[in-house]
Amino acid sequence: MRASQYLLATVKETPADAEIISHQLMVRAGLIRKLASGLYSWLPLGFRVLHKVTHIVRDEMNKSGAMEVVMPVVQPSELWEESGRWQGMGPELLRFQDRHERDFCLGPTHEEVITDIVRSELSSYKQLPANLYQIQTKFRDERRPRFGIMRAREFVMKDAYSFHIDEASLQETYQVMHQTYCNIFSRLGLDFRPVIADSGNIGGSTSHEFHVLAESGEDEIVFSSASDYAANLELAEGRLAQPNPDEEMLAAREIDTGEAKTIEAVASLLNITPTQMVKTLLVHACDKEENISDNLVALVLRGDQELNETKVQKINGISSPLVFADDELIEKTVGCPPGTIGPQGLSLRVIADHSVTDLKNFTCGANVAGKHIVNQNWSEQCQYSETADIRKIQEGDLSPDGNGTLSIKRGIEVGHIFQLGKKYSAALKATVLDENGKAVVMPMGCYGIGVTRIVAACIEQSHDERGIIWPENITPFHLIITQIDAHKSDQVQEFSEAIYAKAQALGMEVLLDDRDKKTSPGVKFAESELIGIPHRVVVSPRSLADGVVEYTNRGTGEKQAIAKEGVMEFLAGTINIHAGD
Ligand code: ATP
Ligand code: MG
Repeated sequence: MRASQYLLATVKETPADAEIISHQLMVRAGLIRKLASGLYSWLPLGFRVLHKVTHIVRDEMNKSGAMEVVMPVVQPSELWEESGRWQGMGPELLRFQDRHERDFCLGPTHEEVITDIVRSELSSYKQLPANLYQIQTKFRDERRPRFGIMRAREFVMKDAYSFHIDEASLQETYQVMHQTYCNIFSRLGLDFRPVIADSGNIGGSTSHEFHVLAESGEDEIVFSSASDYAANLELAEGRLAQPNPDEEMLAAREIDTGEAKTIEAVASLLNITPTQMVKTLLVHACDKEENISDNLVALVLRGDQELNETKVQKINGISSPLVFADDELIEKTVGCPPGTIGPQGLSLRVIADHSVTDLKNFTCGANVAGKHIVNQNWSEQCQYSETADIRKIQEGDLSPDGNGTLSIKRGIEVGHIFQLGKKYSAALKATVLDENGKAVVMPMGCYGIGVTRIVAACIEQSHDERGIIWPENITPFHLIITQIDAHKSDQVQEFSEAIYAKAQALGMEVLLDDRDKKTSPGVKFAESELIGIPHRVVVSPRSLADGVVEYTNRGTGEKQAIAKEGVMEFLAGTINIHAGD
């Protein structure tokens, strides 16, 4: 490609709405352009990268034995009624009507459509397992589209769906997909981690997310220092050091704490630490149909710990989304204002977090305004109905497998795999006949990758103050040849044209910066760094007079004068055109 004829849509100004570096650089380097909130066009340079990412994803999926299909973006409401998600999905699902006033939506995901295909196309256990995938545009009317294509409304996803005769087969394919994802993200050159994840409203049980480690990530992920335990903070478990088991139980007594209501205020008043306190939070229960009720449930945690709402919402009988009781309802139910509630004597369901069950001589609210109890202990007067893990783990907690301590880092979710079970296949009656001729509902798996998001995640991990640094496997061009003063020097013109042709003949993707004198050398250099081409050769009258060209490696910044005669040999030995294969 010749820069003089290529749409190099670089811009100097950083767009005002671009909060993170990948978004800024993608716009400045001319990879994407915004059409409307969460909607982006891919310009030529960006599309070359997206194409390479897509190729790697497709190649590894094909190697895993999955079969590629393409399903419509527009989906009829009837299928979503069958799965129960037409109502369940909420405003992320963009719904509309056609000219016959029939309801449709833009596909945010394709469980329904694929299950519909499979229920009519597969009939025997002999055809299983079957794993079908597509690489296609999804639409989700995100509440807060942001960070450019990182959280867009329209984006490209690779989504795969597997169908099985039994759970064992599902688990086998799940493992294959886990490995395939590791292969994909390694081949893309990303620093990533698979972590145990929440399966959210897609349904199912076992699930892993794949995160690219980056400060700008929206998720928090937890790792052990000494084992391979890694989980999304939403459901990470951790252990706390045990309190002294030999501590003697003292006699409880009620004391005045006046206006002190928060854990910090009471702890400082009594000169104790929050770890010696217990906090009791009241939330709404729900009835059997999962409708929120005015009954309350008490959640008890150690004073220094925070509630993990995702964990609590999964407990049966608690309203999801979680709703905290307001002051009036607390007063009516317990007879005191919030800030002085304690677990003793509550005629409510009391759920104790593991952080409090071994505590002795703790301080808690007395269920009387202005009073707390010190030296409280679990006893007949002070009981919990059940224990559960309901706290957010903290940096430094012990790993749940007993090996190492936990640390928290930020991550960008680039992939997510689920064992769905029979949620969709049962709802849509997707069965096959087993060996005995009996109809069996197929357990399913589903596996997503954010193809467009990967491009942004890669830039988050690979850039410097001057711009993007593409890894060789997904770079839009391998090599940029920069002409300096070609209008004054036939030699520059001829030499750069010659190596341009030879490099292409070797299979390299080359951008020849042949723009005329209106584009200064300074601008050419700055732009080549902004767009991040890994290898650059500068051909100038001065260097040619010395019998050399100047080579620069974008990643290391290392510069080298290469003798004219040895240029092609040097490039062939330096540039790995097969990095993405
Ligand atoms: P998130 O928590 O980031 O919203 P999700 O759990 O909704 O993601 P999935 O339904 O598992 O995502 O979709 C599979 C993959 O698609 C995700 O791992 C992510 O990489 C990508 N993805 C999801 N939503 C978006 C979006 N709005 N923009 C770009 N990529 C997205
Ligand atoms: Mg989402």
